[in-house]
Amino acid sequence: MDNITALGGDVYEIDTRMAGFSGITAGYLILGDRPCLVETGTSTSAPVVRDALASLGVGPDDLATVVVTHIHLDHAGGVGDIAGFYPQAEIVVHEKGARHLADPSRLMASARMVWGDKLDTLFGELSPTEASRIRALGDTGAVDLGNGRTLSSHYSPGHAKHHVGLIDSETGDLYVGDAAGVYLPQTGDLRPATPPPDFDLGTALDSIALFEALGPQRLLFSHYGPVTDVAATLERSAEELRIWVDLTRQARSEGMDLDHAVAMVRERTRERYAALKADEATAEQFELLSGAPSNVAGILHWLDRVQP
Ligand SMILES: [Zn+2]
Repeated sequence: MDNITALGGDVYEIDTRMAGFSGITAGYLILGDRPCLVETGTSTSAPVVRDALASLGVGPDDLATVVVTHIHLDHAGGVGDIAGFYPQAEIVVHEKGARHLADPSRLMASARMVWGDKLDTLFGELSPTEASRIRALGDTGAVDLGNGRTLSSHYSPGHAKHHVGLIDSETGDLYVGDAAGVYLPQTGDLRPATPPPDFDLGTALDSIALFEALGPQRLLFSHYGPVTDVAATLERSAEELRIWVDLTRQARSEGMDLDHAVAMVRERTRERYAALKADEATAEQFELLSGAPSNVAGILHWLDRVQP
């Protein structure tokens, strides 16, 4: 299938075709004795992911684990559907996200407030998963991939308070979720992802430092794809965070409202991103995943908390 890319080490990148777009949200399948899906994508992507798994030889009773880096709907919106397709699979998530997968009503209500009518076309509806099938991770945890191979989880808040990174003992692949920002392979751009309500600069930088300390061989971005230039990329992640925070802080100190702050930060960061000068579709993808309004709102929300 043309939405599957073999990455080596029995790892397969699956384009979940979020909202019909290509190349914006990836799931990953780690094959082996105990096949593991990292990220489900959205609810509307679940049939796409199921077809991809089938073509890789993973049938309804074969998937051992589903793990999500965090419970935002582009990463975990499909958990309920995928849990239904694969009745043997254990669902693994950080403890701060577990209850929302069992009872998504509050998560869906707040997503509805943020996205309005766009919610249905972008994400669809997260269905509940029986609590007995959910395993909650603490600060660290492990997923058994079979044959002595493990995926170790590391709590990495900052982007979201229920976020973990996961490192593969065999390949050194680190699944970074959104904690290192959003990477665009077409242009090599990297932009921070700092949405409300959880963004916190210190914890976000700590999470990036933790990722560096794990010594990964490769970063696997949910948006989007593998990056082997690990040190430079994580450095860029931290630099991007600082730039966006500095500019947003400046806008705030000048008394700008949200709209003006967004316009100012967008203008002042524009030159950094080739994607915004590329074709309109690429620019639109970038805006969808780490849009300036969401990033600036998240940083302002944090500043209001720490510097009222
Ligand atoms: Zn995301």
